[in-house]
Order: sequence, then C-alpha cells, then structure tokens
Amino acid sequence: MTAVRRVLVVGGGIGGLSATIALRRTGVDVDLVEKNPEWTVHGVGIIQPGNALRALHELGLAEECVAEGHPILGMRSRLADGTTLLHDDTFPPAVPGLPPTNGITRRRLHDILVAAATRSGADIRTGVTVSTLDERPGEVGVAFSDGAHRSYDLVVGADGLYSTMRETLFGAGVKARFTGQVAWRINLPRIPELDRMWMFRGSRGSAGFVPLAPDLMYMLTIEKVPEGAPVRLPREGLAAVYRERLAEYGGPVAEHRELVRDDDEVVYRPVENVLVPPPWHRGRVLLIGDAAHGTSPHCGQGGAQAIEDGVVLADEVGKGLPVEQVLDGFMGRRYARCKTIVEGSERIGRWEQDHSLDIDPDAAAFEVTMAAMAPL
Ligand SMILES: Cc1cc2nc3c(=O)[nH]c(=O)nc-3n(C[C@H](O)[C@H](O)[C@H](O)COP(=O)(O)OP(=O)(O)OC[C@H]3O[C@@H](n4cnc5c(N)ncnc54)[C@H](O)[C@@H]3O)c2cc1C
Repeated sequence: MTAVRRVLVVGGGIGGLSATIALRRTGVDVDLVEKNPEWTVHGVGIIQPGNALRALHELGLAEECVAEGHPILGMRSRLADGTTLLHDDTFPPAVPGLPPTNGITRRRLHDILVAAATRSGADIRTGVTVSTLDERPGEVGVAFSDGAHRSYDLVVGADGLYSTMRETLFGAGVKARFTGQVAWRINLPRIPELDRMWMFRGSRGSAGFVPLAPDLMYMLTIEKVPEGAPVRLPREGLAAVYRERLAEYGGPVAEHRELVRDDDEVVYRPVENVLVPPPWHRGRVLLIGDAAHGTSPHCGQGGAQAIEDGVVLADEVGKGLPVEQVLDGFMGRRYARCKTIVEGSERIGRWEQDHSLDIDPDAAAFEVTMAAMAPL
C-alpha cells in the first residue's frame, strides 16, 4: 500500500478550497473541480469563531481574514424588546494576537481562499464536475464533464449540503433535512459601537447584528415560520415579508427594520442540516464539509468545521500512511466533534421553536463551544 500522492477535490467552497490549500502544503498533487463557471458566492457574511481562526492560522490565512474583516469580541444577548439584558460575554482568543472571533463577508473570505488555492499550485478547473467514478484496485478513475479522464489515490467530495457525491456514495436517502426554521440575512452599514454580536431573543427565534468590516454589518434573523405561512418564498416581496417578521423586535432591530427595502439585498433560506453516519467514505472517496455534516447556523460552526476538515485531512495524509489509515485517522478525529456540533446546534433550534421543550439552550451552546475549541 502506498501513500496518498494524487487527490481530487470536488467543490470549491470553504471546505474544498481549505482542503486544497492544506493538502498542497504537504506536497500532494491536487486537482480541484468546481461546477460553477464563475466563483459566485451566495450569502452575506460569515462568523469565524476562534477554532476557525485557529485552523486558518494553520493555513497561513487567519491574519488576512482578520485584516479583511472585523473583530467580534463577544456576544451581548437581550430580549426582543431591545433593552432587557440576558448575557454579556467576552470570548477568549484561540490564537494569541488574533481576535476571539472574526466577522467577514463571504465574498472576501472566498477571494482569500481562491487566491491561496491558486498560489498553492493546485490544478483548478471551474465549470467542471465529475461524471463517473470508477473504484479500481489502488486508485479511483474519474471521468469529468469536460471529457477529461484522470486517476487518483483519494477523491474528496466537498460539494456542500446538496452533495451529489453523497448521493452517489450513500444513496438519495441520506440528505439534508429541514429543521423547521428559516434564516434571513441582509448587509447594512455597521452600527458604530458594534464590536460584538448583538442578539435579541424573540418569540419564534432570534434576531441580531454581526460586524463584518469597519463600515459593514449584517442583520440576521433565525425563526420558526409562522403557522400557515409558506417556507419557500418568491424573491419579489422578500423585503416586505422580512420587515413584517421583525415587527416584534424593539431597540436597534426596530431602528434598522426600515432599511430593509430591496428584495435583491435580502438573503432568505430554509435551515437544513445533515449528519452522514460514519464512516464518511466508501473506498477511496471521502465526504467533507457540509456534504458530510451540514449544521444549522446557531453556533456559527459550519464553515469552521469545513476548514478544520481540510486541515485534519492534510495532517493525516502528511503522515505518509496508506489511504485506509488516512481515512480511519480522519474519521477518528472528526466524527464525534462534528456530531456534537450538528446535534447541539439542532437542539438550540428546537428550543427556539418551542420554549416548553426540556432543552437548555445555554448548555447546548456550551457543549458545542467545548467541542469546537478542543484540540484538533
Ligand atoms: C444562513 C446560514 C448562515 C451561516 N453562517 C455561518 C457562520 O456564521 N459561520 C460558519 O462557519 N458557517 C456558517 N454557515 C455554514 C457555512 O456556510 C457552511 O458550513 C459552509 O459554506 C460549508 O462549506 P462547504 O465547502 O462544505 O460547502 P459549500 O460552501 O456549499 O461549497 C460547496 C461547493 O461545491 C460546489 N459544487 C456543488 N456540487 C458540485 C459538483 N457536483 N461538482 C463540483 N462542484 C460542486 C458548489 O458550487 C460550491 O462551490 C451558515 C450557513 C447558513 C445556511
């Protein structure tokens, strides 16, 4: 059995790009294919908790993310009225000299990751996907949508929550599941004194603000859909519906509600999650990121876990062991941690939808934080 030398990464999102950068740092040959012809990025901003910065630091990219983002020093929670204080916590930094958490626009994070993956010397093709996988003794033969054929020691499916690689490996039954909540996001000018997350607890979920840059923040809402209202909404009219859903909030949310006017600026999506049972591989084909463990966004951990996957995979590959041992080592370090995060985040979401449930959301958040901050 030989060591892993040639890897294909399928999907150029946070997980696929991080894995590509990390694997190239170990000297492995990496091809990356991204199905979209352009590097389009959906969504507004992303919270990078301490463990995300720690993993990015391993890739030499944390400082750049911090320079392009805005520090988040902690979390201040209040009731929906906008004034009654529930918690005011300051987070400890995970990497000395870096902020405890960073807020950054998705576009800027993507630009940083794409530039680093390109610099790494990986062979990156956009507008290309995998047509067929052929597991053969000692390698996987891959046919691509652009007509190319190549073979690899390891194929990494990093194709997100709606992964076709997952369907190929595990069947259509293992798929993302609607959690009962929907998420609203919109970028707005930053409130000058916003140096932490501000969250406001409402009757069906929560709303809040996250700084992203000196001049930018996003307003977010995660909520249970009101009784009888549709989950899927047309783009036209999104701003008006969002304003309506914010009606129960006072204070800064009420002040910013009136800025929600442009349907095209509102990012709305149902919240879904998935946890593929272990192991996340079949033969030499492994799933990482949201394809394997997509989480609801309550603890801001989805992207963080996708970056960690890349760092840990490269660490295991760098040991020079045969692929079976690489995959065992990867699963041993990743499964329990991701399970705690997916399930803990889901518990918080269930409590937000029904406060009478026997769930302590603070305990769930603590459990997720402890799992996330444990050594890799
Ligand atoms: C509302 C919301 C808020 C969130 N907030 C945060 C946060 O604050 N912090 C955080 O850490 N995480 C957050 N997340 C989660 C985070 O966005 C995801 O966990 C992260 O994007 C997962 O990265 P990924 O690379 O696995 O998947 P993706 O980012 O989905 O990337 C998958 C890539 O694969 C490509 N692809 C798909 N199919 C194929 C194919 N067949 N062939 C080739 N390419 C393919 C796609 O085009 C895409 O580029 C949030 C998620 C949501 C929904």
